[in-house]
Amino acid sequence: MAMQVGFVGLGAMGTAIATNLVKAGYAVKAWNRSKIDELNGLQQVADPVDALQTEVAFTMLSDDAAIREVLLDSGALSKAKAGLVHVVMSTISIAFVHELAHMHKQAGLGYVAAPVLGRPDVAAKGELNVLAGGDAQKIEQVRPLLEAIGKKVWIMGDAPAQANAAKIAANMMITMVIESLAEAVVITESHHLERAKFFDLILNTLFSGRTYDSYSDHIRTDQYDPGFKASLGLKDLGLAALATPKELPMLNAVHSRMQETVDAGLGGRDWSAMASFTIRQALGEG
Ligand code: NAP
Repeated sequence: MAMQVGFVGLGAMGTAIATNLVKAGYAVKAWNRSKIDELNGLQQVADPVDALQTEVAFTMLSDDAAIREVLLDSGALSKAKAGLVHVVMSTISIAFVHELAHMHKQAGLGYVAAPVLGRPDVAAKGELNVLAGGDAQKIEQVRPLLEAIGKKVWIMGDAPAQANAAKIAANMMITMVIESLAEAVVITESHHLERAKFFDLILNTLFSGRTYDSYSDHIRTDQYDPGFKASLGLKDLGLAALATPKELPMLNAVHSRMQETVDAGLGGRDWSAMASFTIRQALGEG
């Protein structure tokens, strides 16, 4: 019989990940707050508690507040199967990770942090990079599941927060790349240099790699359809600001710029819309 796995939170990422678990042969008991349009082989359950009656359960809810509401305030976590290993994939605050890890330990439950690098299309292809943090034995226990949804599992350390710190830092760096591309465009277009020509130069000389390729393409074509929404990007920059008491000037700059982007009504656009905000503000296009 197929191993049963629980899954809570079928948003853009959760749907893709849970579907890949089904494809890998697991029986997935899934819960979502709102209606699931396409079940794709998932067994829908009526209560999050039902998804926690398994040896391993994943959650992919949006943020700290959603996890608190669905699992803690409702009392669902306290009714989980004894010995459950809970794999938390959301990008959440370091303080909340510490709180959750402590609670799980007190309740005799396993806690594995497994935030991911990759957007919903990457998740759908099963090509996420999974950043794992937590007790080494628990990580090994869930490794086959993580390998079913990702192309590589990166062990960050035995403290769950180490994985979340890596994820928060990585997202902060992406926003810095987006803003750097936009500010470079402000300089070059002020002198009537074509955007495509400048990106061709820079991507083939000084800056190569997926983040530069993908976001320069958004900026070159001026298309900002969401993969990762600016509102969630703003949440993650808030998490970065809370992750250290140290003063980080570049983080401050991108954090306020992302806030302005969302305030300008672009929160539902891709987070790279921050570039269009910067370029339009400086050059007055569009
Ligand atoms: P999403 O599409 O907005 O999905 C959010 C999920 O959380 C949905 O299932 C939603 O339920 C649920 N939810 C939110 N508030 C809730 C509440 N109060 N009670 C119950 N359920 C609630 O977001 P996503 O893009 O999948 O992102 C999920 C997580 O992955 C976030 O932490 C995000 O930062 C992280 N992440 C996203 C990406 C990306 O590119 N999208 C990449 C890496 C990591 P409903 O369906 O009922 O709204």
